[in-house]
Amino acid sequence: MLKHFTKGITKRWMLSNLSVVVTIVVLVIAGLLFAVSDVYNTTVQQTLNSACNELSTVFQGYKTETSGTFMNSSREYIENFFYKEKMEIMVINASGRIMMTSTGFTPDEDQPMPDFDSASSSEDGVGRWSGNLKSGENVTAVTRIITNQNGICVGAIRYITSLETVNGRILGISLVITAVGLLIIAIVVMMGIYFIRSIVKPVNELSDMAKKIAHGDFSVTANKKYDDEIGELCDAVKDMSTDLQATDQMKNDFISRVSHELRTPLTAIKGWAETMQLNSEGKIDRATFEKGMNVIIKESSRLTSIVEELLDFSRLQSGRMVLMNEKLDILAELDETVYMLKERAISENKHLLYDEPETTFPPVYGDRNRLKQVFLNIIDNALKYTPAGGVVAIQIIYDKKQEPDKIKVVVTDTGCGIAPEDLPKVKEKFYKANQKVNGSGIGLAVADEIMTLHNGSLDIESGVGVGTTVTLTFPIYNENKNPDIPQTEVVRI
Ligand code: ADP
Repeated sequence: MLKHFTKGITKRWMLSNLSVVVTIVVLVIAGLLFAVSDVYNTTVQQTLNSACNELSTVFQGYKTETSGTFMNSSREYIENFFYKEKMEIMVINASGRIMMTSTGFTPDEDQPMPDFDSASSSEDGVGRWSGNLKSGENVTAVTRIITNQNGICVGAIRYITSLETVNGRILGISLVITAVGLLIIAIVVMMGIYFIRSIVKPVNELSDMAKKIAHGDFSVTANKKYDDEIGELCDAVKDMSTDLQATDQMKNDFISRVSHELRTPLTAIKGWAETMQLNSEGKIDRATFEKGMNVIIKESSRLTSIVEELLDFSRLQSGRMVLMNEKLDILAELDETVYMLKERAISENKHLLYDEPETTFPPVYGDRNRLKQVFLNIIDNALKYTPAGGVVAIQIIYDKKQEPDKIKVVVTDTGCGIAPEDLPKVKEKFYKANQKVNGSGIGLAVADEIMTLHNGSLDIESGVGVGTTVTLTFPIYNENKNPDIPQTEVVRI
């Protein structure tokens, strides 16, 4: 528990917010305490001072020529003094002895009177003092020296009042202010801890969940409590887990599919190689030997194309795909690809329709081998997913009026088609909509990436049982954008 408070977000909050709040509250409390004590003390001092200031006018009406007359006048003053309740008045003779008090009690001679001493030595004849009496009582006092008309000191009047009540009040108010301050800090701490917990707890849960997902446990689910950013994070982690699970599943399927695809030609090659070994003993005839050789060559090329496809995919994934771009005639590349597949279509009893256009086409800027690879992949798919007797039609279109800067290659088949729910995903890597037919599930992903690298596009329309149309769109060569001379361009994706 303590660990949570000394690290991470909690620690940062404590250092930034809480320290600022505590500092402000402490400063406000200190300020208020100072102000309260100042107000009380100033009020007491003002009361004493105003009484003291009155003295000069009050004694004008009394006779103060000598100490004797001063004493008589003082007695009269004390009797008439209005604030007897609030303070005590002492009448002091010229030698500093207390002669009379308003309380009537005989004062303790040993009590300190620093205010009298400072009044005697000061120019204005006034002295002030705050301190403790011998009894420990906290008091404040003001003394004014009374002089006669010749300026001779005849005595002094001292006002003294206890500060105990005032101090008690200041203490009471201080306690209330401090308690309110501590309460504010406690509320801020509690609200902060509640708020931080509402972040830290789900974040910790998400972090545990992410660790489990990293170890391949996709069954964990995020407990979404809040409909806010944290809630969105829970959703995002949940989606990520679902996607990762799907990708993991696709990866496993992919590995088993590829292994299967590699094993089939390898088994055929091995089988025929063993059979042909017998040739050395003269046990097989020429026709069987030639059939075996054909199978070995055919299956080896199949293996090569599978490995090429895998290598391309790996290059695309790691961003090492290199395009050898040049100005080229796309029609020639398409012709060549169709020609390569003609025999296969005939042997599979599928109609490969392709009318080579009479017109010439503007050049495009691209990598001839990669573009041929795209054509091969798309027409191969069309043949693969079309049953015997079906039709695969290939068209190359250049509409100078409608789309003067584009050439389109359209491959239409009358095959099984793709279900609408699979259609948006077939261009994703490893995705196979049709599990019955052999294939790694990366052909379309690679073709799509190559088209994107050529600033073109690969669009698929399909209907189940109707067939599929793949449209490849190429931008034509533009001498402002594309260089005129053949050159090698390295494209990192
Ligand atoms: P595969 O190696 O499985 O053919 P692709 O990436 O080439 O992988 O294609 C992905 C999926 O798209 C295929 O598994 C298939 O379900 C679907 N597909 C592609 N082309 C066609 C087509 N012409 N007709 C029907 N389905 C197709």
